[in-house]
Amino acid sequence: MDQQTHDDIEKRVRRLIKEMGVREPPLNMADVVAHLEIDQSFYDINDPTFFDGLRHKMKLGAFKVKGVLQKVGMQALWLPQEDRIVLDAALPKPKHKWVTAHEIGHRLIPTHRHFLFGDTAETLDPEYHEMLEQEANYCASALTFMGKKFTIDALDTLPCWENIHSLQTRYETSATSTLRRYVEHSHNRPMLGIVSTPPWKNETEHKSRCRYFVPSRQFKLRFSKISSDEILPLIKDCVHRARGGPVGTGEFIIGDDWGKHTNS
Ligand SMILES: [Zn+2]
Repeated sequence: MDQQTHDDIEKRVRRLIKEMGVREPPLNMADVVAHLEIDQSFYDINDPTFFDGLRHKMKLGAFKVKGVLQKVGMQALWLPQEDRIVLDAALPKPKHKWVTAHEIGHRLIPTHRHFLFGDTAETLDPEYHEMLEQEANYCASALTFMGKKFTIDALDTLPCWENIHSLQTRYETSATSTLRRYVEHSHNRPMLGIVSTPPWKNETEHKSRCRYFVPSRQFKLRFSKISSDEILPLIKDCVHRARGGPVGTGEFIIGDDWGKHTNS
């Protein structure tokens, strides 16, 4: 995504939050949906009538539509013609905020209107589809963290779990999205966030235990050669098994692109 796209998405989010008159977090997604006059409903993946309604729009058979949705693990959809967001009824409640914000992202970025339903996951170029998803995620993050508001709050804190957790509580967001936002949109210093695949997930599906590797801009500039394969064993040495899962704190040294060493 280029800088112009970032700026454009941020401008749209800023305008929306200003219009709504919200100054302090959390931003309630139901309020955003109501403000934009979007319809919101739930669908049951096993309900054939939902797919009957959808297949006309997707120009596919109901059976095929269901297959497409299941294949891409779709949790929600924005239907441009009806200006309606539908969420999978089985989606756990803590995920609603992010997923709704993501669909609002598709609604806010004007170019998405032409692609989401003109094509399906099968016919749309996968790279282009991935780009639309990234843009919607960028918009969802800007929205849930209220753009610069989170950055201002985060700059007042020292980077540690306790502070990230209190920002998570303040913004009513998930731990993962708060960690990502903190690393990417706060202090101008090398920081790296790693989210691992939960141990209960089938590991054969994910070759690496690393689910998200999130470097800050400064980290990318100074440690461009560092990969998750190098970091994960170092983290593993710092943690021990506890009842709720592995925990631990620790320090280790990694070399930057010029061979200098830094504590982490
Ligand atoms: Zn999407």
